[in-house]
Amino acid sequence: MGKRADLLGAHISTAGAIELAPGRAARLGIRAMQVFTSNQLQWNQKQITASNAASFRDRMRAHGVEFVCSHASYLINLASPSPILRRKSQAAMSAELQRCRDLGIPFLVFHPGAHLGSGEDKGLARVVDAMNRLSKGNGEIPALTVEITAGQGTCLGASFDHLAEIVRSVRSGVRICIDTCHLLAAGYELRDEASYGRTFDALERAVGLHRIAVFHFNDSKGDLGCRLDRHEHIGKGRIGLATFHRLMDDDRFRRMPMILETPEGEAKDPMNLRKLRARRRSP
Ligand SMILES: [Zn+2]
Ligand SMILES: [Zn+2]
Repeated sequence: MGKRADLLGAHISTAGAIELAPGRAARLGIRAMQVFTSNQLQWNQKQITASNAASFRDRMRAHGVEFVCSHASYLINLASPSPILRRKSQAAMSAELQRCRDLGIPFLVFHPGAHLGSGEDKGLARVVDAMNRLSKGNGEIPALTVEITAGQGTCLGASFDHLAEIVRSVRSGVRICIDTCHLLAAGYELRDEASYGRTFDALERAVGLHRIAVFHFNDSKGDLGCRLDRHEHIGKGRIGLATFHRLMDDDRFRRMPMILETPEGEAKDPMNLRKLRARRRSP
């Protein structure tokens, strides 16, 4: 075992029951996964029972899944100018955090939200305010983990400055999630060694690489700065396989979970995982 064991993983379906996810991850041969803890497209969220939670924790151990994060519902918008939607979003985030706590999931990944025309500064201030309220009853775990976004429409979070502002202004230890597709779509070049270096240096200065909790490994249908959130299979989009290998070989990201969110999910995960691992099999 010359090479370190990787934490390549994937977003895993919880269809049927949340406790089925660890077994599905194991069947893909991975030790890292992301899940939704409820239907990501509905406000009415199913409760996690004590027996679901116990069974989930047992199976995590039994199947050797070392890392898990949760992705929050896409309906949540902490930046919304509507007080009603904001209150609803905050309640949904509270419930997300509670489910993470019940299930022993240490990171809740979420998008900061869209300002919907009310302006970036106001939008960011609302996000910070909501996160401060949320972290009050929460403590450090599960960690509120802000994902960089592609910056579609009025979505916040498509710049290191936005991430830095959130990290600076929220009182508890905020973590970040770097989605490679969103990074390119947001205008951060990383496809050659020099620009890769510059982009991660800029992230280090703005936020600190120690804040990264997880990478999302997605190739991108759109090109640099397109601001489109369109994931593509690894090596088939505008990023290309070499950049993913560069990330996997980067010592700063040793033992960092790298989670696929590529099209067709588990049906195509084996293909994407095979591509990522291909070069690493040679000594
Ligand atoms: Zn996301
Ligand atoms: Zn993502």
